[in-house]
Amino acid sequence: MNSNISDNIKRIRDEVATLAVLSGRKPEDITLVAASKTRTADEVQQAILSGVDAVGENRVQEMLAKHTQYAYVGAPLHFIGTLQSNKVRQIVGVCDLIESVDSTALIELIGKKAMSLGIVQNILIEVNIGRESQKSGILPEALDDVFGLIAQTEGVFALGLMAIPPFCDEIERNCNYFDAMMKLFVDIKAKKYDNTAVRLLSMGMSDSYADAIRAGSNMIRIGSAIFGLR
Ligand SMILES: *Cc1c(COP(=O)(O)O)cnc(C)c1O
Repeated sequence: MNSNISDNIKRIRDEVATLAVLSGRKPEDITLVAASKTRTADEVQQAILSGVDAVGENRVQEMLAKHTQYAYVGAPLHFIGTLQSNKVRQIVGVCDLIESVDSTALIELIGKKAMSLGIVQNILIEVNIGRESQKSGILPEALDDVFGLIAQTEGVFALGLMAIPPFCDEIERNCNYFDAMMKLFVDIKAKKYDNTAVRLLSMGMSDSYADAIRAGSNMIRIGSAIFGLR
């Protein structure tokens, strides 16, 4: 057993609990996702045994390989990476939550595949909150159209929003992106689209989770702070 992994998770849990209470929530209201790209199945299992709430993977091939090694037994599996259309059929039904849905085409493909399996796939919509050309995600002004499509698409069910805001040294600016996401989240939740129950706001990584939680995040995706530097 790598005691670093469990020590790190304990420390993060304590900090998250404090931050949750300070922002008027309960510790268990914040979901801790271990971002496990490049980590071995064994490391992933150690994180699960140390009490993370879920595991998030970035690459379909890597995820499927670790899946066959029973890496994810004991925790829900999330997909958090860029998803290519031709990989959709390999992950629908395998992942409990696809966090990184960033196009209407993906919504339609996921719905179709889920219907063919007789299931409903839970998703989050990734928002390009920093309007960065090199990053994927739906632009904020397109969110209503996207949720309108979800409302009409059988086989998909949206639980909320996800974002990877621009890296920023200045805490002020970082918080502005998180605050902007919180606003979008509250707004889209209030609209109660069909095929949605908006309750998850996934934002915050190793270097930013405290700010993200302060702004209202209830799902953080942590890699290096759990497993060490990649
Ligand atoms: C790698 C990754 C994370 C975690 O990043 P760290 O800085 O290692 O905590 C979170 N979200 C996504 C989408 C990632 O790819």
